[in-house]
Amino acid sequence: MGGFGSGQRRYSKATTSDYGRLDVRTWQRQGLLVAGRSFLCWLWDVEVIASVKRDEPNMVCLYRRNGSDQQHAPYPVWLEWTPCNYGGKRGWFVCPRGCGHRVAILYGNSTLACRHCRRLAYDSQQDSGWNRSLRQARTARMRLGGSASLVEPLPGKPKGMHWRTYRRLYRQAAAREQVFLTSAITMVNSLANSRFNGRSK
Ligand SMILES: [Zn+2]
Repeated sequence: MGGFGSGQRRYSKATTSDYGRLDVRTWQRQGLLVAGRSFLCWLWDVEVIASVKRDEPNMVCLYRRNGSDQQHAPYPVWLEWTPCNYGGKRGWFVCPRGCGHRVAILYGNSTLACRHCRRLAYDSQQDSGWNRSLRQARTARMRLGGSASLVEPLPGKPKGMHWRTYRRLYRQAAAREQVFLTSAITMVNSLANSRFNGRSK
């Protein structure tokens, strides 16, 4: 069964949620990017052992495990570091596909690559900006006593609610919908662009 590098490649029109992902920021936040450190992570539904080399702290070796405990050949990914504004440094993956991009997230199931190399569009489910603004708009609506559907108009003042409260919640709900609409338009535009670019290659 396939280790890294043995799988089939998939082509464009995929989105970021069609692939497993490794996020170097999570590893850094958890203090895992230390020479000699090994830890478990998941790529899609496959368990992966990541190991920062003891003698080469800028390299993480990934070992894929299929069900049982057999390990496959290591799949090396280089790390790079950039200084942060307020001291410290931030780690990045260097895209192993060879484009040389420094990226926070690598996508893949059997091979790993950055979003650019995979020509991935962001998926709406994973675009946290979009998702969060939708959730906030819905919550604000429901606080007003309305339905969560943004297609319906904002509800009138519920019985028993003070006008002052109603006006505050109404303003909040209207503002959140505005934020959501703006992020939705941005998302649709970027999707349209990436489709266009995908076709012109
Ligand atoms: Zn790349």
